Parts: sequence; structure tokens; C-alpha cells
Amino acid sequence: MHADVIVVGAGPTGLTLAAELALAGVRPLVLERQPRRREVPKAGGLGGQILELLRYRGLLERFEAACTGPRPAPRFPFGGVHLDFTAFADPPMHALPLPQQQLERVLEERVAELGIDIRRGHQVVGVTQDDAAVTVEVDGPDGAYRATARHLVGCDGARSRVRDRAGIGFPGTTYPEVNRLAQVALPDTVTVRDDGGLDVPGEGTVSPGFTRTDGGLFGIGASPASRVVSLYTIEDETTEYDDDVPMTVAELQDSVHRVLGLRLPVGEPLRLSRFTFQARQAERHRAGRIFLAGDAAHLFPATGIAINAGMLDAVNLAWKLAADVHGWAPPGLLDTYHDERQAAGARAMLHSQAQVALRRGHDPAAEALRELFQELLLDEQPLRRMGALVAGTDIRYSMPSAHPHALAGTFAPDLALHTDQGTTSVAELLHPACPVLLDLAGRDDLREAAGDWGQRLDVHTAKTDQRPADVLLIRPDAHIAWAAAVDEPADTAAPALREALTTWLGAP
Ligand SMILES: Cc1cc2nc3c(=O)[nH]c(=O)nc-3n(C[C@H](O)[C@H](O)[C@H](O)COP(=O)(O)OP(=O)(O)OC[C@H]3O[C@@H](n4cnc5c(N)ncnc54)[C@H](O)[C@@H]3O)c2cc1C
Repeated sequence: MHADVIVVGAGPTGLTLAAELALAGVRPLVLERQPRRREVPKAGGLGGQILELLRYRGLLERFEAACTGPRPAPRFPFGGVHLDFTAFADPPMHALPLPQQQLERVLEERVAELGIDIRRGHQVVGVTQDDAAVTVEVDGPDGAYRATARHLVGCDGARSRVRDRAGIGFPGTTYPEVNRLAQVALPDTVTVRDDGGLDVPGEGTVSPGFTRTDGGLFGIGASPASRVVSLYTIEDETTEYDDDVPMTVAELQDSVHRVLGLRLPVGEPLRLSRFTFQARQAERHRAGRIFLAGDAAHLFPATGIAINAGMLDAVNLAWKLAADVHGWAPPGLLDTYHDERQAAGARAMLHSQAQVALRRGHDPAAEALRELFQELLLDEQPLRRMGALVAGTDIRYSMPSAHPHALAGTFAPDLALHTDQGTTSVAELLHPACPVLLDLAGRDDLREAAGDWGQRLDVHTAKTDQRPADVLLIRPDAHIAWAAAVDEPADTAAPALREALTTWLGAP
């Protein structure tokens, strides 16, 4: 069996990659070892730049429709402090309350709609490559088989076998904290006090909010109006857990006992989850025909950023692989995946490592650091900057150009556009995930200069209020590859545009 691209793993990253490849005209073979979608609770929400990208694909409403609750106030934990954007009309970071199971269901529906089969129950056990192809050995429900492909992408999570088989190192740190999160019903024997604390007969009392002890940190969110409470523990442990092995009520109770010294009776669990933090980045995102994306490529020691980073890896990689499959990828295009996403990962690592330093210490010096940091975040400018950093919206890819425009490398702004056919927007132009040449100034000279790339490029002419540039060349991942400054003369703009088109879309 031969495929253009094999995607290993059908988590959020692999599913996003499969959908983006299909949009770009490539039908990948998706191999997933789990026979059915996982029900182990993981992420409780989706946030950051990926929401904007989903809107640019015309998909955001589907994800919003799958949300389990009202959109929360824009307030996010950051180490031991929090980023509070509630005062902003245009917060720099958004999130959806979308549990990972729901997210994967919506993504899977999208993939099916695009005509891609996911081979469930097919575990990749071996990967080799040579000059001609990459070969996988697979254990499937009907026995072992081999498949070959032009490219293979390991979206197979933190313990990536693809990464190991490709010989790509995964250096970094595993932190000893184990975090346990639970939503449980309380039995009638336990009283929820008006202040949100608990009276536990025969055991003692539980204080409301957070309690730090020598055993770790305990947190509770409870109100007398409900018998369902949220519980949270953090302990330093040396045991390594498998994320796919569900947590149990007994494990939660043992943890509470170690931290608080009492046995808390609990009833029916609504949610039980556990996670540890690691700070690791793959040495390379690419080894020959093999690529890594998502948790296989990076693990960040903070919550709320991993899925955003993984899905954005997929969006960055898909159109480049498709260009190669379609035969027009310029030399070096596939390597830009490593360069761009390694740099984006390093940025996420920067702030997630800083969060470790902010949350771990319990001494007066650590308290002072948290207090000072929180104080700095009262000012709008640093708060906005932190928001953009955590959301991943401040990523600016390096664009090879002698005189890059200020917009080059940034995520394209969603300009409102007026055309002869009516109004549209940059977001709408990117629904099909094609490269876009957007002429905002009636620049016949530049549209003509791009004529030789006709088949690979969607060319649009429009007007916008306060145009930021005369012409924008926008990649399928919504990043601006090149821009012509307002009134830039044709004798410099036309050759520069042709050079940018050759760099990103290959020889004419
Ligand atoms: C309790 C918990 C809470 C979390 N909360 C958040 C959060 O709030 N926000 C956030 O952004 N992230 C959160 N995360 C992290 C998030 O779950 C991961 O970042 C995300 O699942 C990574 O997606 P992925 O597709 O890269 O990898 P995975 O989701 O791990 O998917 C990998 C897939 O590959 C398959 N696979 C593995 N090996 C093979 C093989 N050899 N052959 C075939 N298939 C294979 C696996 O079965 C799996 O389906 C949380 C994680 C946990 C455990």
C-alpha cells in the first residue's frame, strides 16, 4: 500500500493535519492505534491563535457549537499568578470551554466529511526510510502489514515511537509535580459550609480555596448550593504516569490524604484527570521524510498551550507537504517547517518555563516574585504582551527578503474588504486554504508579475479602509509571506514579489 502522506496518530494534531492536507488536495493515510476515540478526560478547553485560524477556515462556529458551557471570562492562570483581561473590549487571548473529547469528535467529523478514513486499531510498530520512501510496519486488526509513503508525520504524542525510530532526541526536564483535577459529588455525610469549606465527620475540616502543606497543594471550589465540588491537588512524586490510564477515585482520595492528612469521602466522579509537566522539545522537527508535530515534538510545563501549538504545527506543515506532493515545492520549503515551528515552540517554552519558576516556590522570596509579577500585570501594555505571548499571536516567522515589510511573517489581519461582488474579508478568502495574492490598490503591475503562478495562487482585488500595504501575499497558514508597501514603485516591488513567489510557491 502506498500513500502520499502517512499521519501517525489521530489526536488533535493528527486530525488537524489530515483535514488541512485534504483541503490542499492530498489524501493522507491516518493510522491510529486506539480502536475508538479516547474517553480519558484531558484538556478542558481550546484557546489561543488556533481559534483565529479556525475562524479563517470558516470552522469556528462548529467548535463553538460543541462547547459544554458559556464562554468563560478571559482570565487565565499563569504560574502562580493570573492574566486578567476582563477589562479589555478586545482581549489578546480567548478560550473555548471545549473538552478534548468534544474537540476530537468535531475534528473527526470534519476529517470524515473531507473523505479521509482513519484506520483505527492500527498501531505503527516500525518506521524506516530511504531516498525513495518511508516505510511503516503496522499491527492492524487483521494482522501485520507494511505501507509506504512519500512523507510520514508523527503526531503520536509524548511517547512518540516515530520520534524514537527517526532517531530524533527529545531532551528536557520532567518536573516532579503531579496535578490531579476532579469534579465529584459529595456524599450527604459531608457538609459544605457557607464559606466554601467542608466539615467531614470523624476527620476534621477542609478550608476553602487553596491550602499549602508539607505534602503539597490542595484546592477546593465548593458552594452550599451544590453537592458537586472541584478538587485539585499538586504533589511532588517520582512515579511516571501514563496519560491514557484513567485516574480513579481511590487515587484522588489517597492524594488528598497525603496532602491534607484526612480521608475525604467522595461520591460519583464527573471528571477525574491527572497530569505531570515536562519541558521538552524535539531536537529536530524533521529527519528526511519524517516530520514530528504536536506533543511528539514538544511538551510544555504549563496548561492551556499544548493543543494550540500542536494544531498550529499541523496547519504550518500541511500546505508545505502538499506542495511537495503536487510537485511544485521550492527547495528548502519543507525545512522551513522545522525553522518556524521550532522557533514558535521555543517561545512557548520560554513562558511555560517562567511559569514553573513562578508557581513552584513556597518561601517568602517566591511569594514576593509572584506579588511583584502580578503587580506588573496591572498595567495594560505588559498584560497585552503576556496575552499575545501565551496565545501565540506574537509569532513572526522570518521571511527571506532584503527589505521585509513590517507585516511580513505575521498572521494576516482580518481586513474588511470591498469588492465588485460585495463585501468579504481576509478570513473568508482563506477558507479554501490556498495561497492568496490580495491587491488592495489596483496594482495591475503586481498582479501581472504574479501571472506565471496562476494555478497555485488565488488572486483577489479589493479595497479596504486604511490599507496597510498595496499588495499582500498570504500563505495558506494565514501568515504574510510578502507585502508591497503603499505606493511602492513597480521597479522594486515586481521583482521582489516574483522572488517571494519563487521562494514560497516554487519556480513559475
Ligand atoms: C489531564 C490533562 C489535561 C490537559 N489539559 C490541557 C489543556 O487544558 N490545554 C491544552 O492545550 N492541553 C492540555 N493537555 C495536553 C493535551 O491533551 C495534549 O497536548 C494533546 O492531546 C496533544 O495532542 P497530539 O495530537 O499531539 O497528541 P495525542 O493527543 O497524544 O495523540 C496522539 C495519538 O497518537 C496515537 N498513537 C500513539 N502511538 C501510536 C502508534 N505507534 N501508532 C498509531 N497511533 C499511535 C495515540 O493513540 C493518540 O491517539 C492536557 C493533558 C492531560 C493529560
